[in-house]
Amino acid sequence: MPGLYVHFPFCASKCIYCDFYARVRKDWKPYAEALMQEIRDRAEELSVPPTTLYFGGGTPSLLPASLLLQVAEQCRSSFGVRDWAEFTVEVNPDDVTPAKADALRDMGVSRVSMGVQSFDDAQLRWMRRRHTAAQAVEACATLRRAGCDNLSLDLIFGFQGLTDAGWLASVDRALALQPEHISCYQMMGRWGDADEERCRRQYHLLQERLTANGFIQYEISNYALPGRESRHNSAYWSREPYLGFGAGAHSFDGRRRRSWNSPDIDAYLAGRQYGSETLSDREVYEEKLMLALRTVQGLPLAALTAEERALLAQKEPVLERLSKTGKIERDTDRLRIPVRELFVSDSIIRELFPD
Ligand code: SF4
Repeated sequence: MPGLYVHFPFCASKCIYCDFYARVRKDWKPYAEALMQEIRDRAEELSVPPTTLYFGGGTPSLLPASLLLQVAEQCRSSFGVRDWAEFTVEVNPDDVTPAKADALRDMGVSRVSMGVQSFDDAQLRWMRRRHTAAQAVEACATLRRAGCDNLSLDLIFGFQGLTDAGWLASVDRALALQPEHISCYQMMGRWGDADEERCRRQYHLLQERLTANGFIQYEISNYALPGRESRHNSAYWSREPYLGFGAGAHSFDGRRRRSWNSPDIDAYLAGRQYGSETLSDREVYEEKLMLALRTVQGLPLAALTAEERALLAQKEPVLERLSKTGKIERDTDRLRIPVRELFVSDSIIRELFPD
């Protein structure tokens, strides 16, 4: 089912590892007004009502609750939605006050995704995060007191200086907070750990620790207690349509048209400028492989057209080799990458691309 994504490209400061376009500025009110205008203007683009709403960033929690509420209400009224099947807001621990937690609950937020990244204060300072481990623990308690019963925590592994023991210590601190969902990302680029073997080990340590504690891995980076998978994000991987609002936000029609707003906030405020592309048959096929095979469910063959199935059949020798080496599992109706190989899923998937 379709989803709505609203982008808030503001951060109080920049974390060292982050590539997101985020601006340290405070012109939130005109931005919220431009967002609401865009939401009104594009309400006709979906033929089926959306079921999920996601406020991401950047740092949506930086904005005053009154502005978040106005934008949420605009989404509701423009798309005729009474209750969302899932309404997620991303927060940073240092923004979570009791008043903000209550306001999120009152505006119908059903899921909070908190960027914690680590429970080690020295690591947090190095990353230039603005919060301490104690603040993250307190933010969780504040959200729980406000009634939040669907909490996701983000962690990062695979960065310079992170030992296996240090990584597990953060994972265990996260588990102690009893979240319903955990997302873990590898730090890439300049600050990432160049020792690929250690990164792989940390990924597998994480898999073991979380599954031993009742979590189910459902995608490369995502783990949930049963039934707590993110519905909004799962729809991306099955190529459901979504509309993205705000500077830099992307939209997809569920078939082959992708579009995006200019990431520049000033350009966005001056009047929405956007680009778009129509995917070729080959791009659609590669995208189906790339998105579905990153999930634990894998690729249902029924999702492929006859032409796409023919393209896959051309890769029979590769499939045969990948399945003999345990990198691909094949059923009559689907292909999947086993969880122990998900860490290298990108290279496996690329082997299946047409020549
Ligand atoms: S708060 Fe989030 S979006 Fe902003 S710089 Fe840090 S990681 Fe990036």
